[in-house]
This record gives sequence, structure tokens and C-alpha cells, in this order.
Amino acid sequence: MIAPIDHDALEAIRDGVRSLCKPYGGDYWRAIDASQGFPEQFVDELTRAGWLAAMIPEAYGGSGLGLAEASVILEEVNRCGGNAGFVHGQMYNMATLLKHGSEAQKAAILPRLASGELRLQSMGVTEPSTGTDTTKIKTTAVKRGDRYVVNGQKVWISRVQHSDLMILLARTTPLAEVQRKADGMSIFLVDLHQAIGQGMRVQPIDNMVGHETNELFFDDLELPVDTLIGEEGKGFRYILDGLNAERT
Ligand SMILES: Cc1cc2nc3c(=O)[nH]c(=O)nc-3n(C[C@H](O)[C@H](O)[C@H](O)COP(=O)(O)OP(=O)(O)OC[C@H]3O[C@@H](n4cnc5c(N)ncnc54)[C@H](O)[C@@H]3O)c2cc1C
Repeated sequence: MIAPIDHDALEAIRDGVRSLCKPYGGDYWRAIDASQGFPEQFVDELTRAGWLAAMIPEAYGGSGLGLAEASVILEEVNRCGGNAGFVHGQMYNMATLLKHGSEAQKAAILPRLASGELRLQSMGVTEPSTGTDTTKIKTTAVKRGDRYVVNGQKVWISRVQHSDLMILLARTTPLAEVQRKADGMSIFLVDLHQAIGQGMRVQPIDNMVGHETNELFFDDLELPVDTLIGEEGKGFRYILDGLNAERT
């Protein structure tokens, strides 16, 4: 059964976010836009106040709230003249990890997301020749011993330059060898500090969308097997879970 909406609780969230946003007026956001910058101070304050950890369970240092509350938080940021596009990635990417990650991954990462020590703002799915039809992605991750070796290319991958971690979708079984085209893709939790310059290259894209976005190139990027999230071959479904939350 779906729990009834507690409108008073949602109003209290709106009030809290609104008062945090108040010092960040139009001048702040226009200056960020003009310099193609990133609102570090705002994002840090939103994180420290716990709003970005809304959907992280209390056991991992968050508030254990749901998608409705998360939507209200982001809506209020936009309503106050800000841009939730700088922060929303963390909420839905975290949800993918929470739902499908191992206990070890969750215990290692979620409390550090809740505290603001780490950011998980990025998700690498889209490719130059593969947008809407995700099952045709060409980036591969081939298992070799205790590593997956990743080769391929992504495009329009947002917030990579302001994130510590990224969820990456790659094909682990060739399309020709799977029964259903949605099978055979897997997701990995990539430590960007380890990956960039060690098999992963980031090429920023000039754009006017209000947040940074990039092309990514993978050339024998090695990922330890324990970076795999959930079961190998089921990554497409895991990504869809996160995207449904993102669209909301
Ligand atoms: C600013 C920005 C930020 C982004 N950030 C990210 C990110 O962080 N991570 C990430 O992975 N991706 C990101 N993306 C990529 C985004 O998710 C893709 O643009 C989207 O999936 C669409 O892919 P495409 O642009 O290749 O369009 P296409 O797949 O080429 O589609 C173009 C149009 O054709 C339509 N269409 C496609 N196929 C068919 C068909 N068979 N029949 C009828 N109509 C069809 C589509 O509905 C769409 O209207 C970002 C994109 C932008 C612009």
C-alpha cells in the first residue's frame, strides 16, 4: 500500500530548503553561469545540511526519506532560482547503488556520500552512436582475472569533473550472444580519481545547459571485479531503475 502524503512534512522540507537557498540569489547563479563554473559552495552547504542524503537510509547516515521528498527538495532549489541539475545526479545514482550494490559497497560508500566526503554525481550510459537505444552500446568490459578491462567511448556525461565516483554501463556479453538485447550489460562503480589518466580520458563539451558535460574515452581502463554492482549482465535493468527516479 502506498503511504498517504504528509503535506505538512513536505511543506517543512520546502521551508528548510528555501531558507538555505536564500543567500544564493540570482547574482550567484548568473556568475556561475557566466564563468561556466560549478556552485561548489551551494552544493557543499546543501550536502552538509543533509538534503542530498534524503534518500540514504538512516543506517548509512541519511534521512531515509523517499522519492516524493527528494523531488520536493530539488523542485525547491529550482523554484528559488537555482539549478538542481548540479546535484540531482547524486540522488538517483545513489538509489541505484542502494538497490543493487553489495553490503560491502553500501557500507563503504553511502555514509561518505551522506557526509559529503564523496560525490556520486555521474552516470555514463550514452554513446556517440547510441542514445535512446541503449541496448546497442559499444563500450565493452571484458573480464580478465580479477579485473574488467573497459574500452569504448561515452558522450554527454555530466558532472564528471565535480564527482568522485561514476556509475558506468558497459557490455560484458556481446549483443550477438545474448537471448534478449537488454541482457549482457553490467554496471560498475568507477573511482574517477583512479581512472582518469589511467585508461580514462575526459574531454569537456562546450554547452549552454547550465552544468558541465563531457566526452569520455576508455582505453584499457582496468576496474577491479569488486566494482561490479549487482549481477553481471543485469546492468540495463539497474540503470532503468535509476533513470525512472531521475525523471521524477
Ligand atoms: C545536457 C545533456 C546532459 C546529459 N547527461 C547525460 C549523462 O550524465 N549521462 C548519460 O549517460 N547521458 C547523458 N545525456 C544523454 C542523453 O541521455 C541522450 O541525449 C538521450 O539518451 C538521447 O540520446 P540521443 O541524444 O543520442 O538521441 P537519439 O537517440 O538520436 O534520439 C533523437 C530523437 O529521436 C527519437 N528516436 C530515437 N529512436 C527512435 C525510433 N526508433 N523511432 C522514433 N523516434 C526515435 C528520440 O525519441 C529523440 O526524440 C545528456 C544529454 C544532454 C543533452
